Amino acid sequence: MTTLWNKPEISRREFFEKCAEAGAKTFVFGGLVVTTANLLLAQDPEDVRARAEGAVESRLHDTGLGDVRARAEGAPKEAAKGPIYGFVVDTMKCIGCGSCVRACRDENNVPDGFCRTWVEQYTFFPNGEVIVNSPSGGADGFGEDLPSRNMPEELGQLPVRGFFVPKLCNHCINTPCIQVCPVGASYVTREGVVLIDQERCIGCGYCVQACPFGSRYINPQTNTADKCTWCYHRITKGMVPACVQACPAKARIFGSVSDPNSEISQILANNRVQVLKSYLGTNPRTRYIGLDSEVM
Ligand code: SF4
Ligand code: SF4
Repeated sequence: MTTLWNKPEISRREFFEKCAEAGAKTFVFGGLVVTTANLLLAQDPEDVRARAEGAVESRLHDTGLGDVRARAEGAPKEAAKGPIYGFVVDTMKCIGCGSCVRACRDENNVPDGFCRTWVEQYTFFPNGEVIVNSPSGGADGFGEDLPSRNMPEELGQLPVRGFFVPKLCNHCINTPCIQVCPVGASYVTREGVVLIDQERCIGCGYCVQACPFGSRYINPQTNTADKCTWCYHRITKGMVPACVQACPAKARIFGSVSDPNSEISQILANNRVQVLKSYLGTNPRTRYIGLDSEVM
């Protein structure tokens, strides 16, 4: 499989080899490649460690470890009091227009070069090659541009099939991102939404490294971790996330999975749904319809 990111182009294998050489982990993020090497280049590792350790001590002094743990673990006990939310992405419906990515950027003031949600274009070729492309996170749509234009010459064949896969935070039930946070800044709400307390976050980037889906980044404007919140500020007012509202194909469905009569509950009951990287056991609340086995 080949992944095309923003130029300069580099094959997925080449990229992983380079990262292995550099001893770095890799993430595909919003059509950009983010490595822990980048993260550590941006911040001195010793400084990161010192900030994390110092902050842990002062935060535990402030709140007590019990408080930190309670915030991470308490949500499920309270959950019965209100709705539990879920999100479904129907890859069979996505047309790759990028409206969701643009709506998210506008709604959440997402800085240039980053995405809270992004769209990947998968294209399959007769020789078995698969190309994954997400220029600018798919914000400008994909139009008629086939990735074959950017293919190595020897693979210059017409694609046999293709589809789009929108991605966002999976709001996992088993959350590596929460578990690694040294100051308890990442937590889950009683509705099952994974959030970041911007006041607590020290920007150490541990959660960015821990998320196996590339969903998090360090916001250069705030120097804190950031990601999709399912538009928590909207859903707590009875609205749907901005990306759901903007999608003209209804490929994104959000709602209460604790209400058996909700649209999302009906969809979940009547379709074969999958999750990304199920083998990791993070148990995502973001589910997919029509997910191809080639999807990363
Ligand atoms: S997708 Fe990543 S950031 Fe989102 S809840 Fe799962 S591990 Fe955490
Ligand atoms: S929930 Fe909101 S922030 Fe997250 S991807 Fe959807 S629109 Fe963007």
